[in-house]
Amino acid sequence: MTDLPTALVTGASRGIGAAIAHALEPTHRVLLGGRDVDALARVAAKLPGTEPWPVDLTDPDALAAAAAKVGALDVLVHSAGVAELGTIEEADASAWRKNFEVNVVAVAELTSILLPALRAAKGHVVVINSGAGLAASAGWGPYSASKFAARAFADALRAEEESNGVRVTSVFPGRTDTEMQRALVADEGGDYVAERFLRPDSVAMAVLAAVSASPDAHLTEVILRPRRTS
Ligand code: NAP
Repeated sequence: MTDLPTALVTGASRGIGAAIAHALEPTHRVLLGGRDVDALARVAAKLPGTEPWPVDLTDPDALAAAAAKVGALDVLVHSAGVAELGTIEEADASAWRKNFEVNVVAVAELTSILLPALRAAKGHVVVINSGAGLAASAGWGPYSASKFAARAFADALRAEEESNGVRVTSVFPGRTDTEMQRALVADEGGDYVAERFLRPDSVAMAVLAAVSASPDAHLTEVILRPRRTS
């Protein structure tokens, strides 16, 4: 066992979540959320202070069982997410449900189960939102609506839990170089130029800044955009 504070990072099998696990690992014992057990094992093998926490977040029974094993918890980072796009005309109920089940319902459910531990630690909840959670574009309705809802979730949680000492941060990254972004660009057509996007570790640095803010400070929202240098 370790005396380090414990962080649970969902979506840590790859992308932004894996980068957040890397950033937190020097100062936290990190539980790595995800479904792909091989990918979780690969991340854990490189980071001694981490351990896999495999679960499908959309399976309520499995989620409750996995959450029951967490114990003491200081930081909960919701990075798991899906992006099912489509115009309002095209998107069917399944696309709306998929976005909302992972990006909103699972976030609320997991937070609710872990709130007693987070209150006991005067802990921190970080929600990886998106620029799409601040402005909706054509063709992005179902994803964007789920991210607007995730912001409302975070705002309500912050208002409810501030008196319990729990901090809540929404992070709104722009397009970031991950598998999700590759799939989106493939759908949109055009070349994938990784340099046009944020690096996952740049998003992770924002999470680290929020989590390591001095005790008197509460970083409530962080907006990141790719920086255009040419
Ligand atoms: P990604 O590379 O596609 O990774 C998504 C992660 O979510 C994976 O670790 C995946 O794990 C996990 N996940 C998805 N569905 C799950 C489920 N049902 N149960 C458990 N885990 C599940 O995505 P990313 O780009 O890192 O995105 C991370 C977050 O940042 C998301 O919330 C996304 O909306 C947001 N974001 C991304 C961008 C971007 O441009 N990439 C920009 C703004 C915001 P398994 O596959 O192992 O289940």
